[in-house]
Amino acid sequence: MSVHPPRYPLLLNPKAKSEKGRRALKFIMAHATRFAIYATRSRDEAIELARRFAEEGEDLVIAAGGDGTLNAVIEGLAGSETALGVFPTGTMNVFAREMGIPYDRLENAMEVIDHGHHEEVDLFAMNGAPFVQMAGVGFDAQVIEETTWESKKRFGPLAYLFAATKVLRAPPPILKVRCHDGRELEGVALLVGNGSLYGGQFPLFKKADNGDKLLDVIVFKQTGYQLVKDSLAGLMKGGIDPDSHGDSVEYVQAAGLSVTSAEEVPVEVDGELWGRAREIEFCSTGRTLRVFAPRDPKVKLRYALLKILSPWRD
Ligand SMILES: [Mg+2]
Repeated sequence: MSVHPPRYPLLLNPKAKSEKGRRALKFIMAHATRFAIYATRSRDEAIELARRFAEEGEDLVIAAGGDGTLNAVIEGLAGSETALGVFPTGTMNVFAREMGIPYDRLENAMEVIDHGHHEEVDLFAMNGAPFVQMAGVGFDAQVIEETTWESKKRFGPLAYLFAATKVLRAPPPILKVRCHDGRELEGVALLVGNGSLYGGQFPLFKKADNGDKLLDVIVFKQTGYQLVKDSLAGLMKGGIDPDSHGDSVEYVQAAGLSVTSAEEVPVEVDGELWGRAREIEFCSTGRTLRVFAPRDPKVKLRYALLKILSPWRD
């Protein structure tokens, strides 16, 4: 009988060439006896591998990467009993922040997995594509679509601002939103939150709870300067106020919703551009995702504070 601790399947995005990515790789190699390491060549391969591990009945799969890698692994694990371990090595690590998973040093993230505490997180899908943190229709997805890799490398976060000014010059789509309970709304852009955080450490969805079986939805009704003003005000004030039903923003909670547009609109899930569609359906997968997270509220609080103090540090 083996006396060795189990080897966890670990899916790794080897393309992460940042300083953080290099440090992560060093940590993983130094603890290589703890993992069965799979460097993935593409998103599809990450999905496929995660699905295979789930089918083989693995207790845990670790995703080492940013929110994009994480989203691929989640797609593979969706509907299974296999739990997700997170090694946050990306730039934003929004989901790790949401769950209070340490993203400063992988030793700390590994400790969370070794402690063995996990939580159940609602798993929603957009046109069949699962997501755990958030999604966007229209403006923010289009900004992601317009931001090139070259521009990001050259200008950093400013690249998104340049893309945004370009997107705002074009006429916005008209989005018709119908919640599953029959409520109807109309807007030019939509943000959908399972968790509370958006784009890093910003708690945008004030009422969001990723275990309440509801999506928090922010509908922006006006484009141009007002859209930018509403988004920034929401981010600066620590969330969009669910009760302020102003003329330009509406906040609703729904178990599911459909969005239709006369033209194809871009959609992002977990910060990754998904593509374009005219009919977009958000609904629960009927399953939860098991995620290893700190049990200790003090650890969670520590990373909650870190996320306020160091927005762009990593
Ligand atoms: Mg919720």
